[in-house]
Amino acid sequence: MAGEPQADCLFCKIVAGNIPATVVRETDTTVAFRDINPQAPTHVLVIPKVHYPDAASLAAAEPGIAADVLTEAGRVAVDEGLADHAYRLVFNTGARAGQVVFHAHAHVLGGRGFEWPPG
Ligand code: 5GP
Repeated sequence: MAGEPQADCLFCKIVAGNIPATVVRETDTTVAFRDINPQAPTHVLVIPKVHYPDAASLAAAEPGIAADVLTEAGRVAVDEGLADHAYRLVFNTGARAGQVVFHAHAHVLGGRGFEWPPG
């Protein structure tokens, strides 16, 4: 059923506590944890606890939870001291855009400069 945990999903396993993660924030609907391979001094992933393969499918099915992910991303930025400076919020969507884990997630990246366009 849509949104149900998937046995082969890495981030569902993190939600369930079956794979350890450095959790920095948690709500009823979301978890935020440090990326295992950080691409910036701050690199936190914000995920919904429900399973949808990408941000667009999450937003279509559960717009309130998609909003929760955005709200939590902003709170991570505040907690990490990024909000007054600059940070990048990224949703890689699709393998050709660099998505590797097909459970919706926002990357909160900060603590260094960023270029545009992204690579
Ligand atoms: P994507 O490329 O799908 O947008 O991002 C997936 C992210 O998940 C990558 O930045 C990758 O480093 C991170 N990641 C992959 N496996 C793990 C893990 O087991 N734990 C944590 N904390 N992050 C992971």
